[in-house]
Amino acid sequence: MDRTRPLPSRRRFLQSAVLTAVPALLPATTAAATVPAVDYPAAEWQPAADANYTAANRPTSHSLDRVIVHVTQETYTNTLAIFRNPTKAVSAHYVVRAADGHVAQCVREADVAWHAGCWDYNTRSIGIEHEGWVDRPASFTDALYTASARLTSAICAAYRIPKNRTHIIGHYEVPGTDHTDPGPLWNWDRYLELVNLN
Ligand SMILES: [Zn+2]
Repeated sequence: MDRTRPLPSRRRFLQSAVLTAVPALLPATTAAATVPAVDYPAAEWQPAADANYTAANRPTSHSLDRVIVHVTQETYTNTLAIFRNPTKAVSAHYVVRAADGHVAQCVREADVAWHAGCWDYNTRSIGIEHEGWVDRPASFTDALYTASARLTSAICAAYRIPKNRTHIIGHYEVPGTDHTDPGPLWNWDRYLELVNLN
């Protein structure tokens, strides 16, 4: 998780200015709402509050070359509630549930989620939160690894991100971070093997 608030999106700033000045443009916003909500077909759409991410148009607006692995230190349900809370200034694209590997998508991949604690790494990455605690091995279930690896594999294929440890990293590997997730119990060898099976 990451409670660092990045610079406001210029695009959103302009959009709100336009909507305030010209209410007649509102139907265009309604039309945009018909875009399919999830990027990953197996995911359930559980949107983060608009205030907790930056609207963008990746990979056109920013190139995308990292997947960042996190552990929530919260339950799945609480994590979704935090992302929905507009005062929290935190989000991730996906949350994977430990018990069954269920995947929620909270931020569109085109948008910049606030999960890395670093604007550069937020703009260039997809963030995946895993329900669990870094010091509890029971968090890291087979279902969690399998579902997450499938998701990461699909993301890598979509954006031509190499399926290796240079490009699939832990939050602790983001420059300047003081976060330790996913922690020493996360099995990177197993995870990368599963990602490469897909
Ligand atoms: Zn994290």
